[in-house]
Amino acid sequence: MDDGRALGGAEVVVVGAGVLGACAAYRLAQAGARVTVLDSAPFSGASANSFCWLNGFGKHPRSYYRLNISAIREHKELADELGGTWVRTPGGLHWAASGRAGFTSDLEQTVRQLRSWGARVEAYAPDEVRRIEPGLRLGPDVPVVYRLLEEGWLHPAPLVGAALERAARDYGLRHVVGEVAGFEAGGGVRLSSGQRIGADLAVLAAGVRTPELAALAGGSAPMATSPGSMVVTTPVPAPLRHVLLGPDLCVRPDGAGRLRVSSEALLGRRVESVDDPDVREVMTALGRALPAASGAEVERVLHGTRPLPPDGYPALGFDPDVPWLYYLYTHSGITLAAALAVMLVEHLTDPQSTAVRPYLVDRFAADRPQVVGPGAE
Ligand SMILES: Cc1cc2nc3c(=O)[nH]c(=O)nc-3n(C[C@H](O)[C@H](O)[C@H](O)COP(=O)(O)OP(=O)(O)OC[C@H]3O[C@@H](n4cnc5c(N)ncnc54)[C@H](O)[C@@H]3O)c2cc1C
Repeated sequence: MDDGRALGGAEVVVVGAGVLGACAAYRLAQAGARVTVLDSAPFSGASANSFCWLNGFGKHPRSYYRLNISAIREHKELADELGGTWVRTPGGLHWAASGRAGFTSDLEQTVRQLRSWGARVEAYAPDEVRRIEPGLRLGPDVPVVYRLLEEGWLHPAPLVGAALERAARDYGLRHVVGEVAGFEAGGGVRLSSGQRIGADLAVLAAGVRTPELAALAGGSAPMATSPGSMVVTTPVPAPLRHVLLGPDLCVRPDGAGRLRVSSEALLGRRVESVDDPDVREVMTALGRALPAASGAEVERVLHGTRPLPPDGYPALGFDPDVPWLYYLYTHSGITLAAALAVMLVEHLTDPQSTAVRPYLVDRFAADRPQVVGPGAE
């Protein structure tokens, strides 16, 4: 049925309602597709357990950096369209400390590169930084603090909720809680309950479970995964204005005075206990950097698993062998979700679209003569 819009009433199932699935489902429905979103455990995957830093930091090459920065703008546009306040971009404060390794150890080099690519970066002496972040206290081993003005963070739960609700209200989207257990030739799905949902196209946005579902459909979605953890604190009396990224901690406001806190060590492993030494260490670092948070306690420990395309870049596009199966998975999915949703619709409505080309999933196919990811630049 053609309703006159770009996708002309095509039946699409989107498997997964994390940030990627929710943004894609909204844009697909808006473009005229008849969308059913399926999720077995809504908002329980990586999107619910993410640090949610919006950034282009350390992202190479320049085209991929630019994708990330334009994705932050795309989030702001989507939030305006949906009437939400889940995108916060006051900037990120970064510092390194002499003699301490950590994930800011290449800071000077990264900042030089970002400036050469046109990023807006301000430099502050540690005592000056209190003007913009009054509660931050840094030691004498910190020579400079950089504010990267494009950065911020996202509250993904209200985004996912609003995108699905608006798409249901305005474009007839259906949201079904159910586990996809198989596929019908031609694009439909079978749920573990036995229910069948017909469709012309299945978009897999199932996070780390995408490869397993691809295999059920006769396709292949190459993916690595990596675990990561963080804590949510009890409310802290003084508000935090920026996302903070230091050698031994990263912090961002989590709403209602709480902070979401992690470190290089925690972001690389699965931690379940409040008594884990890495949790104790990051809480000590938090109290040192933000004395107002020294009385805060760990309210929750979160852990998630990142979906990682093998070369680190987004993976979109049709399975080379299954024409009704479309993939949508990526690293940095919080930053990229709104932009990848637009890219996906553009690709489906214009197969010649150039924006998606570096990120097409068929770059991983074994018989492909050369890899065309942006890393090939
Ligand atoms: C610790 C950690 C820190 C991170 N930090 C950042 C960061 O600071 N900035 C950033 O940009 N990115 C960050 N990321 C990455 C980002 O969170 C992910 O890229 C993004 O959340 C992936 O979203 P998604 O929608 O693809 O997957 P998910 O959020 O995992 O959603 C997939 C959904 O699919 C559903 N599903 C799976 N299988 C089925 C099935 N068979 N049937 C029905 N439903 C199914 C699941 O229930 C789930 O809800 C981080 C990730 C982690 C884990």
